[in-house]
Amino acid sequence: MSFTKNSYRSHDYKFLLQRWRTVCRMAGLRMEKVAEIDGLPCFEVTSPIIKEHSAIYLSAGIHGDESGSTEALLAWAESNLDRLSSLPLLIYPCLNPWGLINNSRWDAKGTDLNRIWENPSNPFIQHIISRTKNITIELVITLHEDFDGQGVYLYEPSRNGISDGKADEIISAATPFIARDPRRKIDGRKAKNGIIRPRPTNPPKDGIPEALYFYLTHKCPTFTFETPSELDLSLRVQAQSAMIGHLLCSDLK
Ligand SMILES: [Zn+2]
Repeated sequence: MSFTKNSYRSHDYKFLLQRWRTVCRMAGLRMEKVAEIDGLPCFEVTSPIIKEHSAIYLSAGIHGDESGSTEALLAWAESNLDRLSSLPLLIYPCLNPWGLINNSRWDAKGTDLNRIWENPSNPFIQHIISRTKNITIELVITLHEDFDGQGVYLYEPSRNGISDGKADEIISAATPFIARDPRRKIDGRKAKNGIIRPRPTNPPKDGIPEALYFYLTHKCPTFTFETPSELDLSLRVQAQSAMIGHLLCSDLK
């Protein structure tokens, strides 16, 4: 797979775009520049059937030091060229291009883009909010990595803390590559077998994240995947790609 030979270029934004262009050409997807920030173009990828169906929202790279996320989203797409156009995809391959290039969690202004979804000043996020306002979103997947991560884990917001078992299945898809994070507490939240179920009534004190914004406004299943950013890139990519594949292949055929 391409990530093995290209892993040393995971912060090369132009190269990321070039590979997405190839995916779009081969799979019949549309790739459109929707904003420009700090001189860098920001892109949206959609499949043709998105007009008639409720959308599946996928995004990566909101934190630029988590390049396993941008590589994994691309790797998943590269491995599913023949079926991408039949899924109603709304994809943001990299939400923080400046951060990716500079290996930074924050944008050029020092803003954490994953804490401003209540009232964003960032034109790319403003675009996404208005783009998604009048469409139905049936599933949201946001990809992240954790510098302190000890294994793979995910967030699934929940109002009542009750599991439907899906989160457990998703993590199982990643465990051939990375074991579950064994911690009982992750970022101040209770975790069990790599699953965190944050209550939407208890958001991060410093602002509203992307995933919570979608959970609250679109009331759809929302998953945030996390891999340990200190591990080998190819394992992180395979783990995240397997989780996306599990969600999209098992439920949305
Ligand atoms: Zn992150």
